[in-house]
Amino acid sequence: MSSLNNLDVGYDIPALPGMDEADIQTPCLVLDLDALERNIKKMGDFAKSHGMRHRVHGKMHKSVDVALLQEKLGGSVGVCCQKVSEAEVFARGGIKDVLVSNQVRHPAKIDRLARIPKLGARAICCVDDIANIADLSAAAQKHGTQIECLVEIDVGAGRCGVQYGAAVVVLAKAINAAPGLKYAGIQAYQGAMQHLDSYAERQTKTQIAIEQVRETLDLLKAEGIESDIVGGGGTGSYYFESASGVFNELQCGSYAFMDADYGRILDKDGKRIDKGEWENALFILTSVMSHAKADKAIVDAGLKVQSVDSGLPLIYGRDDVTYVKCSDEHGVVADPGGVLKVNDKLKLVPGHCDPTCNVHDWYVGVRGGKVEVVWPVSARGKAY
Ligand code: PLP
Ligand code: MN
Repeated sequence: MSSLNNLDVGYDIPALPGMDEADIQTPCLVLDLDALERNIKKMGDFAKSHGMRHRVHGKMHKSVDVALLQEKLGGSVGVCCQKVSEAEVFARGGIKDVLVSNQVRHPAKIDRLARIPKLGARAICCVDDIANIADLSAAAQKHGTQIECLVEIDVGAGRCGVQYGAAVVVLAKAINAAPGLKYAGIQAYQGAMQHLDSYAERQTKTQIAIEQVRETLDLLKAEGIESDIVGGGGTGSYYFESASGVFNELQCGSYAFMDADYGRILDKDGKRIDKGEWENALFILTSVMSHAKADKAIVDAGLKVQSVDSGLPLIYGRDDVTYVKCSDEHGVVADPGGVLKVNDKLKLVPGHCDPTCNVHDWYVGVRGGKVEVVWPVSARGKAY
């Protein structure tokens, strides 16, 4: 922490530990540490009580500090990330088990992936093409390391991954036959249904994925191939994978911070998941900078501090004012009662947490009205 003290508040960094919450410079990301810790513990307890490992998705927060907290309080077994450059950040930061839950194809990226074990971490990636196997094997041999591979099945997301069944067995055998590689299991993330409002619809779609994985595991077993990892599951589906008897690793990300888009989906009782299942722990703190129009407050959080791909942010704890529009540097807040004043602060719940975090340098962690920690968004911009 001591190195933070050379930084200039408002120029380099939005706040420093020990400051009053009221003195934080806006716009910036704020974490409610009590809510964050409760979310992390809750998911950790859920995974443990269902016999699941939890490999948290680090692409959501891109923070070594948050990943270490998830290990400490949630018993997570490692991280997933989507890019080799992110994996390097987590490995350098002390995470010992890193899955790039994605395909790694460019020779330079494969070479970097093969060096990750030298940073002290287990390196795992996904494979969906036999041509990739020779390249991964050559790089692992060159560096004298091991890359573990999950065969990715497309269980409905329509992105990467082979069809379930025989194609998986072919790839698993080829991986095990390649020096420097080890078949570690299956990646089966159903990403296309996580944000559906209806619990029943999410269940139906996940059940299809579960049956495909089950059938594939039976084929692998018949060939004497064991799958150490059977991974998948997100914030909208983790309970289904956990009850399946076939998955053994969850990969949830958003549950820790929550966002407005996820908050709207419904649990099995028809209740929004941000009204009991998970707490909002991530906010964009913003200030009113103009109220020249009687019914509109203009705030300093616009497009450059958030992603609105999944909708506009919600204003936390208020139903008298609404964030209605944004441009690069301005947010328009409808204030029909004229209740806001210049320099008032609002806490926005971002529409989509992952791409919002990626455009910030810092998380300001607050508790009891004080800034307790300021954490870098360690893998910010690591998209390679
Ligand atoms: N696993 C993979 C491979 C993902 O890409 C994602 C998110 O997109 C997740 C898991 C789950 O994340 P979340 O809990 O944020 O839905
Ligand atoms: Mn997301």
